[in-house]
Amino acid sequence: PGTAGPGFVQERGGDAEAPVLVDPKLSHLPLSKQRQALPIYQYHRSLLYALETHRTLVIVGETGSGKTTQVPQYLHQAGWTAGGRAVVCTQPRRVAAVTVAARVAQEMGVELGEEVGYAVRFDEKCSKEVGRTALKFVTDGLLIREMMLDPLLSRYSVVMLDEAHERTVHNDILFGLLKKVMRQRSDLRLIVASATLDAEEFRDFFETADKEGDKLTATILSVQGRQHPVDILYLEAPADNYVRAAAEAALSIHETEPPGDILIFMPGAEEIDTVQMAVFEPAKPGIRKVIVATNVAETSITLDGVKYVVDPCFVRLPFYDPATGVESLVTTVTSKASATQRAGRAGRTSPGKCLRLVTETDFNSLLPARTPPEVQRTDLSGTLLLLKALGLHDIVRFDFLSPPTAEALARALELLYSLGAIDDSADITRPLGASMAELPLSPQLAKVLVASWRFGCVAEALTVAAMLSVRGPFERPRGVGAEAKQRQRSAMAAFATLEGDHITYINVYNAYCDEADGGSVDELREWCAEHCLDARSLRRAREIRGQLERYARLHAPPDHDNDLPVSKQQLRGLPSAGSDMKAVLRCLVSGFFSNAARLSSDGRYRTVREGTVLTFHPSSVLAQFGSPPEYVVYHEVVRTTQLFARDVSAVDPRWLLELAPHFFATRGGHQP
Ligand code: ADP
Ligand code: MG
Repeated sequence: PGTAGPGFVQERGGDAEAPVLVDPKLSHLPLSKQRQALPIYQYHRSLLYALETHRTLVIVGETGSGKTTQVPQYLHQAGWTAGGRAVVCTQPRRVAAVTVAARVAQEMGVELGEEVGYAVRFDEKCSKEVGRTALKFVTDGLLIREMMLDPLLSRYSVVMLDEAHERTVHNDILFGLLKKVMRQRSDLRLIVASATLDAEEFRDFFETADKEGDKLTATILSVQGRQHPVDILYLEAPADNYVRAAAEAALSIHETEPPGDILIFMPGAEEIDTVQMAVFEPAKPGIRKVIVATNVAETSITLDGVKYVVDPCFVRLPFYDPATGVESLVTTVTSKASATQRAGRAGRTSPGKCLRLVTETDFNSLLPARTPPEVQRTDLSGTLLLLKALGLHDIVRFDFLSPPTAEALARALELLYSLGAIDDSADITRPLGASMAELPLSPQLAKVLVASWRFGCVAEALTVAAMLSVRGPFERPRGVGAEAKQRQRSAMAAFATLEGDHITYINVYNAYCDEADGGSVDELREWCAEHCLDARSLRRAREIRGQLERYARLHAPPDHDNDLPVSKQQLRGLPSAGSDMKAVLRCLVSGFFSNAARLSSDGRYRTVREGTVLTFHPSSVLAQFGSPPEYVVYHEVVRTTQLFARDVSAVDPRWLLELAPHFFATRGGHQP
């Protein structure tokens, strides 16, 4: 019965429920007409009315119905931004905050950075003139940071928590924080926007009474979209290889189905590379766009023209194990809610088809209804440090929408204590903990930066922090053959040192800056290509380093002179960089002692405290050059086929005891 080639069957229940309104292709219309054609336009009066009569408004509507771009503009027109006040709208991803701000500025016919602006980590475009920027798009993490300076968010008349269904940890924390703020500011309004139907949970969370018994009222507005029906097809028999199955499904759609673009969901960048190679086999006449995307294409960006969705029903998510302290990226089945969202992407402009690369039985029995919220599967140390800095002492009593486990909270508090960020009574320490909280970095990396004054290597610590804030400097080898790997290996050899990745990154960064300052843009690009370096990552690292340098100077000890301490030499090439880099590595250990591993007699690395077995990621210089060091610290762990440690450096075990006595002393037998 399936129409997308052999091997597929139509969903038994049938999913063609949605009423069909014809969605004209909007893009040829003038912007004002496009805006009026959006589903949310019909609701703009009731929306404003609901906000007059309730404190919190939950808006539910399909992706593309106009929540993000239109609601802030309606508020602006209705006077919510009068008198120098502003409306702030949060996004889970920085790229969404930036693109949405640009779109809204364009629709309003103003320049980005004036009436409409954005602020994300390491980047801001808002007017310097106080009260000028009326609509501000920010990441959810950034809004929490703003609360450190302005706990009641007094500049804002309305806060819009967008994409609330994604349940990011920052968004969940904002829920709890805003509930507190709402009790103190009766003029503040909150909008929660979600693309899925779990609106009651959000409304119930906010609909409570405050101390005086005044009701914090909340209501729901559902925006009826104009979703076209999407036929769901399942595999007749399970596929062994979803990457191959996805490529085959796309080819089969291309050969048998009418025109329309194809959107393929893949868990991550590596699969995306592989699928693209498989899909770019000789195409038949007539061109069809094939988009291969991660779950960012699920809700936060709008792709017009997609008629077919190929969904292997996999997603890559970080999961943190508080027992081992290991956060790993795991490729796992998506939730049913995600699969529904993904299928919906095929029905935006006309009826579509979604091919799920699983059997219907497996779909029903294996997929969870919803993805667990991030707050229940992530390392909470950074979040707790922010909450401490905001003056919330009793974390256990914090009003979480979904509470994390006691174990995860305990682990996070223990790490903060070992880092010196909180004291025996779990209060934030000053200046150390407070300085760490101000830095837009993980607590470990923040500690490295703050401690670098003491170790006399601020310049290097800045470089390391900036380089770890972008994806690795080396391009992933293009192709899979031995030749590609060899090419990358020899490129790495030009910068690699036996101390490991961190010092190597310093070498890469310094060489890049010399090159950037000495030559033209074209020469720089050529140089990067020649050395298999990712020019974009490096440019970004340089920008980030500049931003971090400003923070670093704020945290300078009172007695320092104006130059940033730099440990003396930076050597290139394979030989050890020598004793000068010791200070940098010790400084690194002062932040990353909890990520320490030792070489066991069986030739494997195990984490020092828990004994978890790890392997160096193939992109690490230590996986490629030299003999395995006895002790290492690493930046993070990724789980694919096994647990891979990324960004690894060799260290002296004595430093671990010296710099983190508490962490290693509390459990006998696990001392380095
Ligand atoms: P929602 O938040 O409900 O998912 P949006 O407000 O993001 O919806 O988008 C509404 C519509 O505006 C989209 O369907 C699309 O047509 C248009 N749109 C949004 N962003 C852009 C953009 N950057 N470029 C062009 N069109 C856009
Ligand atoms: Mg949106």
